[in-house]
Amino acid sequence: MLHSGLSEGERFDAWRQLKTGERRVAVGARSVVFAPVKNLGVIVVDEEHDATYKQNEAPRYQARDVATVRAIKEGAICILGSATPSLESWHNREKGKFHYIGLPDRVGGGSLPPVHTVDLRKELQNNKSSIKSGDDASMVLSPVLKEAMGVRIARREQTLLLLNRRGYSSFVQCRSCGGVENCTKCSISLTYHRNRGQMVCHHCGQSKKALARCSSCSSSDLSFKGMGTEQVERIVNETFPGVRVARMDLDTTSGKWSHQEILGRVERGEVDILLGTQMISKGLDFPRVTLVGVINADVGMHLPDFRSSERTFQLLSQVAGRAGRGSLGGEVFIQTFLPEHYVLQAALKHDYMGFARKEMSQRQNPAYPPFVRLVNVVINSPDNECAADNIEMATRFLDLAKKRMNIGGEVGVVGPAPCPIEKIHDRWRWHFLVRSASVSALNQLIGPLTKEFKTKGRDVRLIVDRDPSSLL
Ligand SMILES: [Zn+2]
Ligand SMILES: [Zn+2]
Ligand SMILES: [Zn+2]
Repeated sequence: MLHSGLSEGERFDAWRQLKTGERRVAVGARSVVFAPVKNLGVIVVDEEHDATYKQNEAPRYQARDVATVRAIKEGAICILGSATPSLESWHNREKGKFHYIGLPDRVGGGSLPPVHTVDLRKELQNNKSSIKSGDDASMVLSPVLKEAMGVRIARREQTLLLLNRRGYSSFVQCRSCGGVENCTKCSISLTYHRNRGQMVCHHCGQSKKALARCSSCSSSDLSFKGMGTEQVERIVNETFPGVRVARMDLDTTSGKWSHQEILGRVERGEVDILLGTQMISKGLDFPRVTLVGVINADVGMHLPDFRSSERTFQLLSQVAGRAGRGSLGGEVFIQTFLPEHYVLQAALKHDYMGFARKEMSQRQNPAYPPFVRLVNVVINSPDNECAADNIEMATRFLDLAKKRMNIGGEVGVVGPAPCPIEKIHDRWRWHFLVRSASVSALNQLIGPLTKEFKTKGRDVRLIVDRDPSSLL
């Protein structure tokens, strides 16, 4: 077992034992793909679609790609496993690069649970009066979901509730002046954490005491927008007094064993409702979980990132798969403002192939992976103008290189523009995207950019991110 908790000595011993063949199997997260296993026979990449296989700090690499390349080099077999494969892998299968092996039956038998959508637009219509008065509990737990939860509580079965946003509310807006409290170091709003009484930046971690009044106009008429798990927890507790609720998100699992501790309580039946972020969607197998509710499926849908639909589909499919794993059966309710969207339609039917077909056609024009390879070139600096100047210079550098190499037709450049999150941790960020269907053309161009391009000004950083997992 290779993991980040090993000391250097322990890691050395493990590597030596693998190298000599004394140990023959290495298990671990991303970096285990480099383990010096002797006579390598098989590499298994489980949940191959998971974004954590991409390391987003230098050295940047995609462990799934390393695995396939290494397997070819060492004459081993590489098995990529997933119920919702990445479109990159699906595309490789369509091109005949990968063999496809289907597992039509669910592990342990049983059928996939029925999935229902709850149209939040209708709930909004039905609840206009109560929402105006500031009580929007029915938008959090719609009547059908609430009823289904009540049935589970009466039967002593368990419910999972997913909301992929932690904290109490992701931004606090003043009703008088419209002002929103932003992080002073990043260009994003601060998340209100009610239990801690703090406003926290989810990008740089900076926090400050939450105020009862607007910091620009001192009005106390604040509205808490962008509901998070803490708020759902409060509403669930108020709706079902006395019911045992556990919350699992980054904020409740910072301790070393807290993750295991929460799951242990669920397993022993000491929890009626487990509520959390995407953490609760992965791998849990509890036979008494017969209901899964998604509080708001649209949370990740509108991010300015070409993978937002894919991520949402994966998340919904995974969490839906947590229901009805035992003989008791199960069902799933997904609350959404977009019930007609193809992501929701496919999730309803557990239809990965239908989703993949539709999403592939979306990625063709304009071209996005898997049809092209992308390189995200980011320049950041404490000085916004300086970052903007440098990204212009880098764009010109690339243009000239393209002309010189005569590969202008094969490689496209989009931008430059400010990154969707313009500032993180007091550094302004600008970027452009380089895209091409030809890996060699991309390499020809990106090589000189990383080796020869010189930034101008002080404290300017150039980041060249190949196959970026996120464009934010
Ligand atoms: Zn937080
Ligand atoms: Zn105000
Ligand atoms: Zn920040």
